[in-house]
Amino acid sequence: MKYIIYARKSTEEDDRQILSIEAQLVELKEFAAKEKLEIIASLCEAKTAKEPGRIKFAEMLSLIEKGKADGIISWHPDRLARNSVDGGKIIHFVDRGLIKSLKFPTFWFEPTPQGLFMLNIAFGQSKYFVDNLRENVKRGLRQKIRNGVWPGWAPVGYLNNPKTRMIDIDKEKSGKVKKLFELYSTSKYTLKSLANWCKEKGLRGNLGKEIVISNVQKILTNPFYIGLMKYRGEIFEGQHEPIISKKLFDKCQEVMSKRGKVQEVRKHNFAFLGLLKCASCGASITAEIQKGHNYYRCTKKKGLCQEKHYLREELLSEQVKSFLQKVSLSSQDTEKVLAALEAEQEKAKQQTQSKVESLKEQLKQVEIKLGKLLDIYLADALSTEEYSAKKQELLSQKVRLHEKITDFEQKGLSWLEPAREFVLSLNQATKLVKTENKKEMTTFLKNIGSNHILQNRQLIFLPKTPYNLVAERSEANQRNLTFPYWCRGRELNSHLLKQTGF
Ligand SMILES: [Zn+2]
Repeated sequence: MKYIIYARKSTEEDDRQILSIEAQLVELKEFAAKEKLEIIASLCEAKTAKEPGRIKFAEMLSLIEKGKADGIISWHPDRLARNSVDGGKIIHFVDRGLIKSLKFPTFWFEPTPQGLFMLNIAFGQSKYFVDNLRENVKRGLRQKIRNGVWPGWAPVGYLNNPKTRMIDIDKEKSGKVKKLFELYSTSKYTLKSLANWCKEKGLRGNLGKEIVISNVQKILTNPFYIGLMKYRGEIFEGQHEPIISKKLFDKCQEVMSKRGKVQEVRKHNFAFLGLLKCASCGASITAEIQKGHNYYRCTKKKGLCQEKHYLREELLSEQVKSFLQKVSLSSQDTEKVLAALEAEQEKAKQQTQSKVESLKEQLKQVEIKLGKLLDIYLADALSTEEYSAKKQELLSQKVRLHEKITDFEQKGLSWLEPAREFVLSLNQATKLVKTENKKEMTTFLKNIGSNHILQNRQLIFLPKTPYNLVAERSEANQRNLTFPYWCRGRELNSHLLKQTGF
């Protein structure tokens, strides 16, 4: 492959960010040497690229058309083309196979459809592409998270690697971050004293900002340092290397929670504590031991309360178990429903695939039209206005098609994961009844419902949809406990889940 080096800086550009032509040439030649690329010409342009008609640019294209070269090296796509016509020419050359390689030290490009799409954006072809990209970025973030890669700025102690797009350990700072955890775990240091310690040791945030008390707290509670990632309240496994051990991290959390609420240590043995409010006054329900038994009662912290009852833990536990039974699914039935969901997923995948294929065919047609349009324009058969108007129309079509494709590819199956989790949680209810783990029962009840109150010794709460529907069905089918109505048959099952918000 033979390359042409192309450098440009316009006379109007006073932006100091842009390297001088000489500097661009030096960098590009170094880059070419490192990548072992053969150079047949170096072309420099001092004119602006905002208007079409650059001399060296035209010379370069003519060399390529004659087959003297089939690759271009430039600092950034915006050096190569600044307006849509020049950008269009380059892309057209790539489409025709005349340009086989484009290399930019600052920009990753591959002559695939995605690469061309990115190049379109870099050439500033259309605002639509950028808007569309932003949407795709949001979607991309979730995908990245699922793949275990943190999509944002690395926390202090780590660095974003622009080449691999992964998160690497910051060799300079990671040691100090680790020390921070170690100091705090001794419980001899306050957050404030640690913030001062950072100042003394010159440990600053990745953007050079000073680390203050709230930053210290954020660092000490961020599970990123043990290889996990917290994104929108959810914990994901990360691909990055941990800086500290889980043991050290847990110790720090322990120190922090002990400082936060000293008085709660005493109440640890009451499994249902923190779950209930009093029905008549709204105050919290507390627990105490009477004659060797755990009792739950209103704290009466909100003033006058009529509630005089005490509820024994065993009775409360029976009520919880009776609810759990209503939303229970045996392991055997869980297997069946999961298998049905699996089949459903296969079916949905196939449907999605055929829809996406037809959309991609439409997209291809638009691409062909765009190519033809450029040919007509380059043959001077179209005014710039006519060309722009028609192109804009085709580009919006393209964006809409891209959006539809992403929608189909992602939305089509998005309800399946929550459905699966839901089914598994029903199976968890079964297990909880068997194991009698009261602490976990409390967590389960908190997760699946709200407004847990105690009224006349009765536990009442609002289960979330679709748990409420399952519970209601069970009540209606008390005699038929083996296989609840709602999960018979996969059509009905998926239909119900979709209807109820999945
Ligand atoms: Zn009360």
